[in-house]
Amino acid sequence: MKITKLSIYQVDLPLEHPYWLSGGRLKFEVLDATFLKVETDAGITGWGEGTPWGHTYVPAHGPGIRAGLETMAPVILGHDPRKTVDVERAMDLQLPGHLYAKSPVDMACWDIAGQAAGLPIADMLGGGSRRPAPIASSVGAKSPAELEAVINRYRQRGYFVHSVKVGGDVGKDIERIRHVESIRKPGERILYDVNRAWTRQQAIRVMKATEGLDVMFEQPGETLDDIAAIRALHSAPVSVDECLVTLQDAARVARDGLAEVFGIKLNRVGGLTRARRMRDIALAHGIDIFVMATGGSVLADTEALHLAATIPDDNMLGTWACQDMLTLDVAGGRGPRNKDGCLHLPEAPGLGVHPDENMLGDPVAVYR
Ligand code: MG
Repeated sequence: MKITKLSIYQVDLPLEHPYWLSGGRLKFEVLDATFLKVETDAGITGWGEGTPWGHTYVPAHGPGIRAGLETMAPVILGHDPRKTVDVERAMDLQLPGHLYAKSPVDMACWDIAGQAAGLPIADMLGGGSRRPAPIASSVGAKSPAELEAVINRYRQRGYFVHSVKVGGDVGKDIERIRHVESIRKPGERILYDVNRAWTRQQAIRVMKATEGLDVMFEQPGETLDDIAAIRALHSAPVSVDECLVTLQDAARVARDGLAEVFGIKLNRVGGLTRARRMRDIALAHGIDIFVMATGGSVLADTEALHLAATIPDDNMLGTWACQDMLTLDVAGGRGPRNKDGCLHLPEAPGLGVHPDENMLGDPVAVYR
């Protein structure tokens, strides 16, 4: 089987509510999504998606994905999409780095491989659990009363895992965390996501002040060096996501004991082919896992769901449904949707959901 054609689509995905990242420092209203259609000489078509969470969050942006695809297209065409490691190496030779631009290609290749084999991607990755995957909310940094209102809105949809953004102001953060903990319901899982917003002294002060509350923090500093430097000065479990990019990052975090949780973001790490190696490093070191998209439609959420299925239930803390934050649905209601706070794995071969092409407009580029 050979890849014969790549079609690139650009779609703006508007957020239902404006969103402020930790510390209120970055506002988001629209996500710049790239959809990739990969056609083969076997008549099987696969789809990939790359939707960064804005261009100010991590080094990734929509135009960068499309430029990367243009650069890599000549070496992607002609490859057998089922040979995902061969495709990965071809892309790495043509364009070192830029993992976020490679991720949509990897996703489409797994979609094709699954369809060709008659298996869902999860089973191509080795099988795994069919327990519905709990969805973590994403609650932007707000006042305690506003936080409570947003959490209640998610609770009404069945959510019981919440990612609450903090960061930037020590006093306000301590107040936010104490308030959210005071309204936490039995069985709810809450992660306080700093999104790198604290300096070392800020991190130490908030983490010490909330020590008795048994809470967990994500990305409490800018770099792994920052997280390592404060490691001995607090007792809270830590998750890393924005600093988890390469397999070397994963190995360092595991070896040096820098975190107890991996937040694997598929577009950030370059797709399923690379993410499954991180999963294995985590499981070999007693590290639990959140697995999610960096943003985007039901396609991106579903890709994460397939990897989530391959993680033992006790180690899989949650996924994300960015689709719940958008006003545009490119799949017309198809694919996994929130049901009682969980996503259910599709059992169709491949990814299990494709976009409605009428929603995508004309391709912005075609390579053949
Ligand atoms: Mg995070």
